[in-house]
Amino acid sequence: MIVVAVPSWQNAAVASSTFPQTCRCGHDIKHPLVHPEPKYTTAGWLMLLLGATPSPRYAQFVCSRCSMILGVTKDPKILREFS
Ligand SMILES: [Zn+2]
Repeated sequence: MIVVAVPSWQNAAVASSTFPQTCRCGHDIKHPLVHPEPKYTTAGWLMLLLGATPSPRYAQFVCSRCSMILGVTKDPKILREFS
């Protein structure tokens, strides 16, 4: 039996209306090269430096190849993966 791992962010509420549907290389938000990148507040960064694991404020979906941002999300399901 083949189990296809579906990243949890594929079912997440993503605010992508202000972002392009695809990046320069033609990847959309569900492409494996596009990954969520956690964004922290200043206080969050301080906690990271101190070795703590703060919850990110939001995550950006970034293409690994061209670094274009395809969307942002505040979905707790996604943010939990970073904390
Ligand atoms: Zn790209």
